[in-house]
Amino acid sequence: MKQYHVWTIGCQMNKADSDFVANYLEGAGLRQTEIAEEADFVLLNSCVVREHAEVKVVNKLRSLKGLKRSRPEVTIALTGCMVDSRIDDMKNRFPWVDLFFRPQQWDVFSKWAESHGLPSLSQGEASVPQNPPVSAYVPIIHGCDSFCSYCVVPYRRGRARSRDLDEICCQVQSLVQRGTKEVVLLGQIVDAYGDDLASKPDLADLLAELNRIKGLLRIRFLTSHPSYMSRKLIQAIADLDKVCEHISLPIQAGDNDILKAMKRGYSAEEYCHLVDDIRRTVPDVALSTDVIVGFPGETDEQFARTLEVLRRTRFDKVHIAAYSPRPETTATREIRDDIAPETKESRRAQAEALQNAIAAEINDCFMGKTVEVLVEDQKKGKWCGRTRGDKLVFFSSEASLTGQLAIVKIEKTSAFALQGTLA
Ligand code: SAM
Ligand code: SF4
Repeated sequence: MKQYHVWTIGCQMNKADSDFVANYLEGAGLRQTEIAEEADFVLLNSCVVREHAEVKVVNKLRSLKGLKRSRPEVTIALTGCMVDSRIDDMKNRFPWVDLFFRPQQWDVFSKWAESHGLPSLSQGEASVPQNPPVSAYVPIIHGCDSFCSYCVVPYRRGRARSRDLDEICCQVQSLVQRGTKEVVLLGQIVDAYGDDLASKPDLADLLAELNRIKGLLRIRFLTSHPSYMSRKLIQAIADLDKVCEHISLPIQAGDNDILKAMKRGYSAEEYCHLVDDIRRTVPDVALSTDVIVGFPGETDEQFARTLEVLRRTRFDKVHIAAYSPRPETTATREIRDDIAPETKESRRAQAEALQNAIAAEINDCFMGKTVEVLVEDQKKGKWCGRTRGDKLVFFSSEASLTGQLAIVKIEKTSAFALQGTLA
């Protein structure tokens, strides 16, 4: 039996795309291997959102050069945001790679598959694995029209394209029939869902449809953009019982001039009003955000405004990144990357220390309380799952609880997770 190996780095969208390919290859009779050198088909799914990720991809690609030399019959394929339209340049740079396809360019992948005697990719994205995970990613909108000045994603993933609402509902229905209990709807701007479709459904409409599916326990969605978060959507989160009180709402910076230079389209005050509105409507909401420190020209005072928003808003989770100039983006073309690497690192560490202290305080409030956990799997001998607010919970149990809701009494907390025993 032939074997395949998939290596993925980057966002949940990449993970979903890799799962889609893995599912297709399983259906075509291939078996997964963790060891690239044993595989007949190797797929790397790349990320270039920051230089750090790109370096990892290049190292991984280089590590496969010897494999291709010793076993030329192996197919090495590259997808994800590293693949742009200049395929010839990529072929010159990495001549041992056989197949390049851009994110979602399934026609190119399908052509390769068929030319290698594999079945066609007819079911498209809506295909569902035999044994899907308890919590499954479901992309609902691809690409992004926003062109934030620092971000390479719109250049690599193209214009925003929403999937058909009925197709998504059918896919989720099939996932649930095969054991999935939670879906995580994905999009770069997930709350822009539907705007490009003829009948103009929106994310709130989709959530209402999915909320009706019997056997589905929870619905999440990410990533939301503050400019698209409508009143109707906030109300839907409050009203629909399966929709988790958990919103991923990147702010990126707390200073208005930096936000303007980032082309984010809102001010810090507008963001904070939005958060106030969300908290009034959805009182127990868990909020996560993304922050970039060391954007070109960011002064100490401007950085302090980002810290101030973190202090004021008290997010449950913050993804903090040091600014990394990316090819093609307007920030790279128009503004000099003038913040020293040490300054970026020091700001990143300050923001992280502040956020860790806040998260530790927030999580400490769970001490002695009981929480409802959707159990996903076992890690290091403990059962592991999440609360509706996306808190990671570990606990012990003799029984197999995968896919079940467990009530857990919290006995230990940290900035990153909760621990307890079955109540
Ligand atoms: N669409 C989402 C949004 O609007 O925030 C997230 C997509 S982006 C791929 C994920 C995160 O990477 C961003 O929220 C941002 O914080 C970070 N990011 C993107 N470009 C970056 C850059 N050039 N340097 C540092 N971080 C960056
Ligand atoms: Fe990138 Fe901005 Fe689009 Fe997010 S909204 S993917 S940060 S361009």
